[in-house]
Amino acid sequence: MGACMLCRMLLLHLRAFTAALLAMSALLTSTAAQTPLVYPPPLIQGGGAVQLGRHTWVMPDRDVTLVPNVGIVVGRTATLVIDTGMGSRNARTILAEVAKVSRHSRLYVVVTHTHPEHISGLAAFPAGTIFIAAKAQQPEIAGFIERGFGGMARMSPFIGELLQDAAVRQPDLVFDREHRLDLGGVHVRLEWLGPTAHSPGDTIAVVEGDGVVFAGDLAPKGRFPSFTPSSTRAGYLAAFSRLEALKPAVVVPSHGPTSSLAVLAEQRMMLEAMRGRVQALKSTGSTRETTTGTIVDEFTRRYPTWRNTVPNEIAPIAQALFAE
Ligand SMILES: [Zn+2]
Repeated sequence: MGACMLCRMLLLHLRAFTAALLAMSALLTSTAAQTPLVYPPPLIQGGGAVQLGRHTWVMPDRDVTLVPNVGIVVGRTATLVIDTGMGSRNARTILAEVAKVSRHSRLYVVVTHTHPEHISGLAAFPAGTIFIAAKAQQPEIAGFIERGFGGMARMSPFIGELLQDAAVRQPDLVFDREHRLDLGGVHVRLEWLGPTAHSPGDTIAVVEGDGVVFAGDLAPKGRFPSFTPSSTRAGYLAAFSRLEALKPAVVVPSHGPTSSLAVLAEQRMMLEAMRGRVQALKSTGSTRETTTGTIVDEFTRRYPTWRNTVPNEIAPIAQALFAE
């Protein structure tokens, strides 16, 4: 099961806790019938930070589900962490890495979006850390403050343990569309690219001068984009265009390998091909369900090397295209 299937479950959780649990147990049951469900522990590995630019590091996800690629940007006077990992244990791993590359007491944290593996480590950050968020992230933040991470904590005993002491707080600084953060000698531009790409609060972090962008779940390499109930093709295409306009040399997605803008051309081609097939099937009177089934079969075969999950990431895309 991919991180973003879990993200979708959590979205439901935010809206209706009980409904989400029912859906989740149904999903687990149906999945278990096909393949035994094994979660590798979603732990960030310490010690492996990779330097991407003069001021920029990434702690790679090593392709582990529910582990994000975590960014660390170090200026002359302050340090920014991008995404917190799942729960305090992961956040402490990040902070140990931060201490190796920076000695600043001034620490900022931002999340690429508010799905749990990106935000639930917040409580472990030292008092005085400045939490910056796009305004569009606030409803989900408020949801976590009110209800915690109960839905995800039930996914497995280990995840439950990781989330035991997880807590989210209100941001110290909220921006509408854009905020340029000064870390001393290096600026990071935070831009909100929601609300209809991966999630309502999608936020990217552009490290000016280093040519690096932390793109959240907007630029996956070798995998299908993760459509949630708020996702549309237009939303993703607009996000791709903005990322391209920024001309970064290095694109760090939330999950999967660090790459370049070339991934966006691949994603556009896939979406265009799928849109064409969905429209063709629709014009013959094929229902939403039949169309989705056909598209899942076809695109699983068409993209044999793309990482996919059980049930899979293709169906929600096909459904969004069907609704166009
Ligand atoms: Zn997500």
